[in-house]
Amino acid sequence: MNQKASADVVILGGGVVGCATAYYLSKLGVKSIIIERDTVAGHASGFALGGLSPLGGVGIPGPLETLSLESYRMHAELSPTLRAETGVDSEYHLQTAVTAAYTEEEAAAIQSRIPWQQAQKGFRVEWKKGDDILAIEPRLAPGVIGGVVTQYVGLLDPYKLTLGLLQGAESRGAAMRHGSVQGIKYQGDRVTGVQINSGTIHCEKVIVALGSWSKEASPWVGVDLPVEPLKGQILRMRVKGPPLLYVSWGHSYAVSKPDDLVWVGTTEELVGFYETPTKDAQDSMLKEALDALPYLLDAELVRQTACLRPVTPDGLPLLGMAPGKQGVIIATGGGRKGIHLGPVMGRIAADLATQGSTAYAISSFAPGRPMAQVSVAAALADPFRF
Ligand SMILES: Cc1cc2nc3c(=O)[nH]c(=O)nc-3n(C[C@H](O)[C@H](O)[C@H](O)COP(=O)(O)OP(=O)(O)OC[C@H]3O[C@@H](n4cnc5c(N)ncnc54)[C@H](O)[C@@H]3O)c2cc1C
Repeated sequence: MNQKASADVVILGGGVVGCATAYYLSKLGVKSIIIERDTVAGHASGFALGGLSPLGGVGIPGPLETLSLESYRMHAELSPTLRAETGVDSEYHLQTAVTAAYTEEEAAAIQSRIPWQQAQKGFRVEWKKGDDILAIEPRLAPGVIGGVVTQYVGLLDPYKLTLGLLQGAESRGAAMRHGSVQGIKYQGDRVTGVQINSGTIHCEKVIVALGSWSKEASPWVGVDLPVEPLKGQILRMRVKGPPLLYVSWGHSYAVSKPDDLVWVGTTEELVGFYETPTKDAQDSMLKEALDALPYLLDAELVRQTACLRPVTPDGLPLLGMAPGKQGVIIATGGGRKGIHLGPVMGRIAADLATQGSTAYAISSFAPGRPMAQVSVAAALADPFRF
């Protein structure tokens, strides 16, 4: 193998979690090698919407709320820092979000969250009547019962964020290597290296950040990593008119991005690792979009993308040391919020690799924990999951 064959830490997977881990390790003076079999952010971390919505989703409020709010704060710092360090602009900005209800059931689901959301510092969250929602976004179809206006959610380009994290890490000695991970080597329970297709990379610490493919690592780490791929698709559309706020309704959302396109999403499909965009998804997303935003009838479809969210049965990440092993850290299962949670997951993985502990409370995310199943339908009923 004509590559550097040892590192302090080897990171498996070059998505946002792997690159954030390398970035925070590099800030601590620790050099890492990321092993990626495709390209940086070549899967979910390059094709997600890039919404940073800290006030909802599985486990929020609940076990994930502290990490969610912390990662929101970290993104605000990270974006200018990465731009200064690397020249990569992640296009991070804050955005007003409108979550519209067309049925009493949707209105009740939205309203039940408002007291907790209003109690969080730094946000303004207000319920508004249908007419007021239509005054804010007149292109929404009539029939809106009401909705919540949140100031502010974040929005960025997930590919540029991940690239910036990688380049920031590289500037302090990290490296990305092309290769397919095949296993982890041990002496007793202590890590000695990572086996890739072209040889072994010696190390004492390994971070498993394989996203939707993390389950493959279960036999390597001695604990079940029950991560499944949940496919999602997005349409990018060109349409005349002023930019669209971050609007969501039912199972869908639409927002103008800095590329001047309106991104419309999404689907939640359990179809294994089949990552190709489909016509069925295009038709169903277009129908939902036109029902709520009829002005998109004049839009031109520019691009359709698909990628896989790494979801666990209980919808929470897997974040912690692998039990019974010395030097194996698991950082995966970001699910629908992996871009948003990427910085805090990377920071925690870096803490665990360097100190064996972290100041963040992570016991709810322990690998090997018993998990209750949150159904896709239950997760879809959460109006703030995006
Ligand atoms: C349609 C859609 C929209 C989304 N929108 C948002 C959003 O608005 N906000 C948000 O926070 N999140 C969003 N997400 C979720 C987010 O994209 C993911 O949670 C996040 O990107 C996961 O990052 P990751 O680093 O864990 O995994 P990935 O990005 O999947 O990276 C894992 C990497 O591991 C590599 N790999 C796998 N196996 C091996 C191996 N054996 N050897 C070497 N490399 C390997 C893969 O090639 C891959 O590059 C969205 C997801 C979808 C599908």
